[in-house]
Amino acid sequence: MITTADLTKVYRVRGRDVVALDGVDLHVREGEVYGVVGTSGAGKSTLIRCVNMLERPTSGTVTVDGQELTRLAGRGPRAGRELRAARRRIGMVFQHFNLLASRTVRENVELPLEIIGLDRTDRRRKAAELLDLVGLTDKAAAYPAQLSGGQKQRVGIARALAGDPKVLLSDEATSALDPETTRSILALLRDLGRELGLTVLLITHEMDVIKSVCDSAALMRHGKVVESGRLSDLLATPGSELARELFPLGDLPTGGSPAATVLEITFQGDTAAQPFISQLARTYHVDLNILGAAVETIGGRQVGRMRVELPGSFEDNVVPVGYLREQGLQVDVAERPATGPRTEEAA
Ligand code: ADP
Repeated sequence: MITTADLTKVYRVRGRDVVALDGVDLHVREGEVYGVVGTSGAGKSTLIRCVNMLERPTSGTVTVDGQELTRLAGRGPRAGRELRAARRRIGMVFQHFNLLASRTVRENVELPLEIIGLDRTDRRRKAAELLDLVGLTDKAAAYPAQLSGGQKQRVGIARALAGDPKVLLSDEATSALDPETTRSILALLRDLGRELGLTVLLITHEMDVIKSVCDSAALMRHGKVVESGRLSDLLATPGSELARELFPLGDLPTGGSPAATVLEITFQGDTAAQPFISQLARTYHVDLNILGAAVETIGGRQVGRMRVELPGSFEDNVVPVGYLREQGLQVDVAERPATGPRTEEAA
């Protein structure tokens, strides 16, 4: 639904080039909630602004719903009209809501409908529908200053939905909100996505946002996507940085027995229901020591992680490790370097 190919954006700042996007390939499937995460300055905002052409990419292509937007940009009046029409099908939700203080909630939602050219009766009807969708019918006549942060963002979402978009872009929509309001806004985005068949691309610096609503995610650093995919696939990818951050097991204590092997086992879906630890202990007569375990819901699926210690070196444990992998479990061997924890896949 959204594809970027070799997308680059270079800003010229006081005679110097700042590379904000450096060859970004992104593929967002229809109907999914896709999160882009990364620290400040990674290029997330630039990416989202390039997707709806608020920012003109330096090179590369952006395709939304089968239409290559980069081909339309700046190509005469007809292409300009097509680009404007395409952009109406892309809703955008902003971190700081961007509401007009002098307009009521209903009038804020009506604004994009005016621009589309709807008459007064249709605007009223559509705005009422949208406010109902976001649960704000009783605030239609209120002004933004009379609303809580969460309510303001609901207005922002209603306004973003005015053009019946197929794609919703969210630029840190919850980072100005408290945790509880964040949860309710994220749930609203996810539910609206399902109800209206929207594809949602959101950017965030918070792993919790990815964890609670996203189906897929990409990690950005220095203008590049360094990892991307469905959360379930990432969790099953050895050495995945996103998986580790989504599901931290805490630091591995230094020291411990040098003659022991520490495994980090990830299980999800069907494998979560298997009593694999007791089977392993029984079948191979191994005395396992459980160092830590956690179960969470990530992308709507139960995922568990467990850190266990087995006596003997990795070579001594090749057979039990093979057994665990045969059960469909993701098994990483944790090293204990002097400088801190690091997980590496076994050879
Ligand atoms: P993020 O959203 O991940 O914090 P940004 O996309 O805002 O990252 O920024 C990526 C890089 O591009 C940064 O180095 C930033 O300073 C630079 N940048 C962003 N917007 C502009 C701009 N309008 N002019 C010049 N440099 C910019």
